[in-house]
Order: sequence, then structure tokens, then C-alpha cells
Amino acid sequence: MTGTITLETPEGLTPYGGVEANAAWAEEVRALARKRDAVLLAHNYQIPEIQDIADFTGDSLALSRIAASSDASTIVFCGVHFMAETAKILAPHKTVLIPDARAGCSLADSITGAQLREWKAQHPGAVVVSYVNTTAEVKAETDICCTSSNAVDVVRSIPADQEVLFCPDQFLGAHVKRETGRDNIHIWAGECHVHAGINGPELAERAAANPDADLFIHPECGCATSALYLAGEGTVAPARVKILSTGDMVTAARDTKASTVLVATEIGMIHQLRKAAPEIDFRAVNERASCRYMKMITPAALLRSLREGADEVHVDLETAARAKASVQRMIEIGKPGGGE
Ligand code: SF4
Repeated sequence: MTGTITLETPEGLTPYGGVEANAAWAEEVRALARKRDAVLLAHNYQIPEIQDIADFTGDSLALSRIAASSDASTIVFCGVHFMAETAKILAPHKTVLIPDARAGCSLADSITGAQLREWKAQHPGAVVVSYVNTTAEVKAETDICCTSSNAVDVVRSIPADQEVLFCPDQFLGAHVKRETGRDNIHIWAGECHVHAGINGPELAERAAANPDADLFIHPECGCATSALYLAGEGTVAPARVKILSTGDMVTAARDTKASTVLVATEIGMIHQLRKAAPEIDFRAVNERASCRYMKMITPAALLRSLREGADEVHVDLETAARAKASVQRMIEIGKPGGGE
């Protein structure tokens, strides 16, 4: 756990740097976390050093639920801002810190509360379903949140004659539309710049070069539709194509009989998969699929967060209560695991 880490960052934002993730760093992080009565949570897309120092690593929803049930009075959420907000929504009386509040998300930013209100006004009576990658303000305007694992079940739970507004991810929306066969579902044209960059031709090329490999695909990927198409036309055996949330990928890694797995999601995921099944050769479909926002949580940022109690995440109580209701409905409908 040594070495200098080179990080790509969102334009104009300089990440906190100058600290090496070595044994002394790890010791100080652990000591400060104990002193603050803090639990350290890391998303699957964090750099390996952050994943390894965390008390828990996982997908956004699993981490938020750990945040709510943990005895710790402080949550340090190593992920992007909407994830820390979700932890705050589920645990409003705890102190929630994110090591760098500038770590945003292009998908969550693709729809604002005001835009959603306007969309709702155009479709009175429609049920709003939002993926968990949304801000607290958007969740507060939402009827039911969903994860990539339960998006199809959530939409199926809505009476067939009622219109559905699905946001913000167009690829997950297309997946849900195909699976449910509904034509009264309207899909917001949002996307994650990282996942949208993993495209069909790249996947087809990798699949052809690795004919025995399983394909683990996150439904936000631009290639998810192509993967189903390839399976449908027989280029790839349907059993090899697995559309999975990041949490479900870890379970699938333990269960697969394949010796090679092609992974279509953010490259940070590979670290957890290799830990779960070291004997399998996991290969990224696109090695450049790295989320610059996730990588803003540097060893220096984590240390600063613990030393200074920064950056604290706030969600006003009324927004939090409305947002929590939409998250609660999601948990009540079927498989709650998953999320990004
Ligand atoms: S990978 Fe995409 S969806 Fe995930 S945090 Fe980064 S920008 Fe957002």
C-alpha cells in the first residue's frame, strides 16, 4: 500500500494531494476514526487504498443501510456527494462527512428538482421512479426510488394504466422499458459520462476475443443494450451475459464457473472482484472508464476529513423526510440490494 497515486480530476478542480497511502497514513486514519467514533464506508469505485482502509466497501445503497444501522455517531462516506446525502437521509441524526464535497456525479447532476417538478406538471398523475443516483431534492420529488437490481420490479408494481416518469438514467430506463414491455413510461435523457463511454463495439470486440468469458455488465453502461442484442443473435451465449449492480457483481464473481470475466463498469470495481475471486481473470471492457469524481477521495482528503471533521453533509429535515419516504418505498418493493 505505497506509492504515489496519479489522479485525473474534473476540470478545474484540484484534488487534495501530497499524502502517501502508507502504513503511517493507515495508522493515523484508524486512530482518528476511533477518536471521532466514526465508521469508514467506501464505494466500490474508490481507489484500492481507500477501499482497503474502510470498515465496509460496497454499493451505494448497501453502504447507506450500514450507515443507518451502525452504532457509530459519525459516518465518513468515501464516495460521491449524492451517496453521502442518501446516508444522511437514512441517518439524519448522525454526523455525515464526505472527504471532498466537490465529488459530484454527472448522472445525479443531469436532473434538478426544478426540472423534475416541471416534468411532473406536464404529466399529471404519473408515478415518478428515480434511480438512487439523484440528489436529495430530486428524491424528495420522487414517488419510488429504485436501484439497478429492483428497477424492473418497482415499475411492475405500478398499475399498468398509470404513466411512469423514469429518471435520470436513459440506459437503465431503456432496460426497464424492454423488460416490462410498457409503452407509457417516459425516460429522462440523462447519463453517466463514464458508463456511457463503455460502448457496444468495444464490448463485441472483447467478447469475440474471449469466447469463454462471462460478461458482467452494469445496466447504466452504453453497452448493456448491445450485450442483450449480442446474446439475442447468438454471438454471445445468453447465459454468459449478466446485467448486474455492483453489489451483485461480487456475489456473481464467487458463483461463476468461468475463468475469465469481462467487466463493463467503472474500473475501481475490479479491485473488489479480484479480492472476492482471486483465481478469476477479471478484465475491464474499457480500461479508461474511471470516474474522476470518485477519484477525488484521495488519501490526503480522507486524512483532512478526519482531522477537521469536514466536509459535513447537510440535508434539511423536510427534504430528508420526503426523500426518505421514496427510499423506504423502494426497500418495501422486492430486492433492495444493489444500486451503483
Ligand atoms: S461513475 Fe458515473 S454515475 Fe457513478 S459516480 Fe461517477 S459520474 Fe456518477
